[in-house]
Amino acid sequence: MAAQSFDDRDGWIWMDGEFIPHRDARVHLLTHAMHYASAVFEGERAYDGVIFKSREHSERLHTSAKLLGFKLPYAAEEIDRAKAELVSRQKTPNCYLRAIAWRGSEQMGVSAKRDDVHVAIASWLWGDYFADKMKGVRLMIAPWRRPAPDTAPIASKAAGLYMICTLSRHAATDAGFDDAMMMDWRGQIAEGTGANIFFVKDGVLHTPYPDCFLNGITRQTVIGLAKARGIEVVERAIWPSELASFSEVFLTGSAAEITPVREIAGLPFKPAAMTEMLLNDFSALTRRKNAA
Ligand code: PMP
Repeated sequence: MAAQSFDDRDGWIWMDGEFIPHRDARVHLLTHAMHYASAVFEGERAYDGVIFKSREHSERLHTSAKLLGFKLPYAAEEIDRAKAELVSRQKTPNCYLRAIAWRGSEQMGVSAKRDDVHVAIASWLWGDYFADKMKGVRLMIAPWRRPAPDTAPIASKAAGLYMICTLSRHAATDAGFDDAMMMDWRGQIAEGTGANIFFVKDGVLHTPYPDCFLNGITRQTVIGLAKARGIEVVERAIWPSELASFSEVFLTGSAAEITPVREIAGLPFKPAAMTEMLLNDFSALTRRKNAA
């Protein structure tokens, strides 16, 4: 049976300041965001009724919009309140939340200065991002590269930047992989299509420096957890030629959480002590009621 479509569900969506029935959350065809990708969004999770790092996500939504040249009509505190109320109204203490801000219909064309800015928040139940998460996922090398910082606003979680992620993920699943690992415009390893990436070598954690992709909130959390354990973390340029020297690999993201990787393009990896320890620490942190 086909999964229930995302536009045909019970419950509530917060849209432009009020809660409306889920099925009524519609936008017109002639909406700037639909044609020109003038939208920014967030993906976050609630654990036991508490949204993990809610304020950081709301602030990143603001930053993302600013990088695209628009300002949100709601303060981060208001967005936080709306998200929290949505979680309780939906009666889903463990859920995924999607906040989105976009340019409306007042002006159509490349220029968008006269468009109103809208904000909405939806939520849904989302278990593991990858079906066989704990078994470890298999990554292909993506056919698309992360653009240079002077090619696109790379620090914005902007809808338009996901075009190459969707293409890369489709290429990976078409070839029998779970996801793709994207290089950047220089040929250095960048990230997954919706998650950051970490490598382990001789007890040290290595991760690409986020100068052309999102410095994920989960990425920053995991770096903090590792350092609290006294583990050395090196943020640096990582080249594909180094892959064989790593023993463990994992992905991090709000949806992916910490997902072990068991293969990159034919090269096997074995999730072991480091991945397991960070996974346990991350679970302990997110499940703690005051983790926000
Ligand atoms: N990179 C990309 C392309 C993503 O979509 C995400 C998920 N938002 C991340 C990295 C990880 O970010 P975060 O940990 O803040 O969810």
